[in-house]
Amino acid sequence: MEARTHVPFGAACGLGYAWLSSLHGLDAAVVGAVSALASTTPDVCATGWWRSLDRWLPDEWLGWGGPLQHRGLTHWWAIPAAGWFLALPQATGYAHLLLAAVLIGIASHLVGDAVFGKGGYGRGPGVPLAPWSHHVGLALDCGGATERWLIRPLLLVGLVPAAYVVIFGGSL
Ligand SMILES: [Zn+2]
Repeated sequence: MEARTHVPFGAACGLGYAWLSSLHGLDAAVVGAVSALASTTPDVCATGWWRSLDRWLPDEWLGWGGPLQHRGLTHWWAIPAAGWFLALPQATGYAHLLLAAVLIGIASHLVGDAVFGKGGYGRGPGVPLAPWSHHVGLALDCGGATERWLIRPLLLVGLVPAAYVVIFGGSL
């Protein structure tokens, strides 16, 4: 999934969490915004400095293309899961809210890439079940017509009433 779709999807997931948690007003807006921002973080593996690091470190020796590959270790489901079940219960007050929003943003990224992400470079489609191997996903084209002309517009259009209902407590 492209960043331009990850961000509205992360916002939608954050707003969904806020709604389920009966959050309103500023709290709900912050959760939606933080989830949207955090939704692109797993793609740190696609940035220039990470790619350089991957070229210099012989992590391929660890097998299956190595943990530093694109959609490798940074896209492993256990990272947000560990955050949710181990770190989140320790956090209180606003730190709890912010951490939950970050983890939801990261999880939304993994869901998005599991749907929109083809295989290649010796890697299967989607995201890894094991730390950086055994990828699973629906293998839809990242940035393809379905994402660009269906999912992204639906998200962008749907966010307006969703934000209205969740943040301002309105009813449709
Ligand atoms: Zn990704």
